[in-house]
Amino acid sequence: MRILIANRGEIAVRIIRTCKVLGIETIAIYSKVDKDKPFVAMADYAECIGEANPAETYLNMEKIIDVAKKLKADAIHPGYGFLSENDEFAKLVQDNGLIFIGPSADAIKKMGDKLEAREIAKKVGVPIVPGSESPISDIQSAIEIARKIGFPILIKAAAGGGGKGMRIVHKEEDFESAIRGAKNEAKFAFGDDRVYIEKYVEEPHHIEVQILADKFGNVIALGERECSIQRRHQKVIEETPSPIVTAELREKLFESAIKIAKAVNYENAGTIEFIVDKNRNFYFLEMNTRLQVEHPVTEMVTGIDIVAEQIKIALGNKLSFSQEDIKPRGHAIECRIYAEDPFNNFLPSTGKITLMKEPTGPWVRVDAGIEEGNEITIHYDPMISKLVVWGKDRIEAIDRMKTALSEYKIFGVKTTIPFCLWVMNNEHFRQGKYDTHFIQNYFKPSELNEFDEISKDGKLTPEIAPAIAFAILNSVKKKQNQQVDKSSNAERKINRWKMKRYENFR
Ligand code: ADP
Ligand code: ADP
Ligand code: MG
Repeated sequence: MRILIANRGEIAVRIIRTCKVLGIETIAIYSKVDKDKPFVAMADYAECIGEANPAETYLNMEKIIDVAKKLKADAIHPGYGFLSENDEFAKLVQDNGLIFIGPSADAIKKMGDKLEAREIAKKVGVPIVPGSESPISDIQSAIEIARKIGFPILIKAAAGGGGKGMRIVHKEEDFESAIRGAKNEAKFAFGDDRVYIEKYVEEPHHIEVQILADKFGNVIALGERECSIQRRHQKVIEETPSPIVTAELREKLFESAIKIAKAVNYENAGTIEFIVDKNRNFYFLEMNTRLQVEHPVTEMVTGIDIVAEQIKIALGNKLSFSQEDIKPRGHAIECRIYAEDPFNNFLPSTGKITLMKEPTGPWVRVDAGIEEGNEITIHYDPMISKLVVWGKDRIEAIDRMKTALSEYKIFGVKTTIPFCLWVMNNEHFRQGKYDTHFIQNYFKPSELNEFDEISKDGKLTPEIAPAIAFAILNSVKKKQNQQVDKSSNAERKINRWKMKRYENFR
C-alpha cells in the first residue's frame, strides 16, 4: 500500500508517522522552497512539483495526480487546507482509480456551501444561527432581515473559510457599505460573491464535535473541542473537554453532529462546528469535511489515532469500536505555534530558524513541520508546529503546557510562544472563563515581556545565548544596512541593550 500526501509541513509529517506505523509507504510532493523540510526526507518517495506558488504546486491537481500515477500510489491523503475541501479534486482522484482519504465529493460539495449546510442542519432539526436562508440579493430585503434578527449581525460568505470574508455590523447605517465590502472580499478570496446574514451571537464559544463515519452508516462522536481562543476568527489554542460543556449539553451536541453527518451520508473523519452562547444555547455553524489542525487533543484523551482510522475507513473497513467504547480520559490542550509577532498584531514573521529546541517529557507531543536551519517564507501558512499536552485534569494540563512552552526555544523568527505562555498564566483562562473575545478583552502586548525570552529579565542558558546573539546581530546588521534608519529611539535603545546583553555572554 502506498499513499501520496497532497500537502506539506506538519500535517504531512503527521500523516507519514502513522503510515510508518501501519507499514504503508508514502510519497511526498513538494515545492522547491520546501526541499529541505522534514516531510520530504521522511517520505519513502518525494517528487518536486514546482517552484513555490501554491497554484503551481500544492493546489495543482493535474500534476499531483500525474505523480500519484507515475509513482504508483494507491490512495491520496489531502491533509487540511489546500485541496482537502475541494470536491473537484476528490472526484478527480477517484476518476483516476485512486482512493481519496476523505468523504465523498458530494458531501464535500454540500457542506462547502454554508447556506446549503445550514439548510441541511435545519431539515434534520439541528438549531442554526438565526439569519437569512438565501444569498442577499437586494439591500432593502436584507435590511429587513437584519432588523428582524437585530444588530449586531454578521455578514458571511457562503463559500467562506479560514476566518475570511466575515464582517460584523453593529448599526444599520453601516449595513449597506459592509454588504458591498463583504461581497467584494468574497469574490476576491473565493471567486463567489454570495453573502448572507447571521445573528452575531454574543459571548460566543466555538465548540466542535469530532466524528468518524464508516462506509456502512456507522457514525460516532469522539468528543468535543473548545476552540474559543481565536485571533482574526482563527483558532490559536484548543482544548478538550470544553470547560463549559455539561454532560447534558455534550449529549445534545453529539446527537446533532451525528444527525448532520448522516444527512449527507458522510464517511471518514469530519468536524461539526457549533457556536454556543452564554446560556449554553447551541447553533450549528459549519462542517469541516476533513482532518482538522486540532485533532491531536481528541487523540490524546481517547487514545485513537484519527489518521489511522481515516485510512482504514477509506479502505472500506468497518469502525472497530462503538460509541460506548469511547471513554475519554483526562484533559488535553493544544497551542498552535505560529511564526507571528504577538507584540505586533500577530503579523507573520519570516526568516531562517537559527535555533530550535523542542520541549519533551511525559505527555508532551510536538507536531512540527520545520527544523533548525529551515526558512519560514511568505509563500505558505506561518504555522511552525503544534504543541499538545495531556494532564489528568485541566489545571495539570495547563501547568504542563506552561513548562513545555518555557522549554521551547525558537530563534530567528518571532513566534506566538510568549503569547501562549501569557494565556496559560491568565486567571480567566485558568478558571475556564473565556469566549471568542478573550484576546480582544484581556490581551495587552505589554504584558508579554515577562514571557519573552529576549525581553524578559531572566537568565539565558549558555546553549541558547549564541543563537539569540546571532539573531540580534543579524537584525541589527539588517537595520544598519538600510539606508534610511526607520527605527525609533526606543527601538535603538532596545537594540543597544540587547547588544550589551550579548557582550555579557562572550
Ligand atoms: P481549522 O478549523 O482546522 O483550524 P482552518 O479553516 O483554520 O481550519 O484551516 C486549517 C489550516 O489550513 C489553517 O492553518 C490554514 O492556514 C490552512 N489553510 C486553510 N485554507 C488554506 C488554503 N486554501 N491554502 C493553504 N492553507 C490553507
Ligand atoms: P470559517 O469557515 O472561516 O471557519 P466559521 O463559520 O466557522 O467560518 O466561523 C469562524 C469563527 O467566526 C467562529 O469560530 C466564531 O469565532 C466566529 N463566528 C462565526 N459565526 C458567528 C456568529 N454567528 N456569531 C458570533 N461569532 C461567529
Ligand atoms: Mg470554521
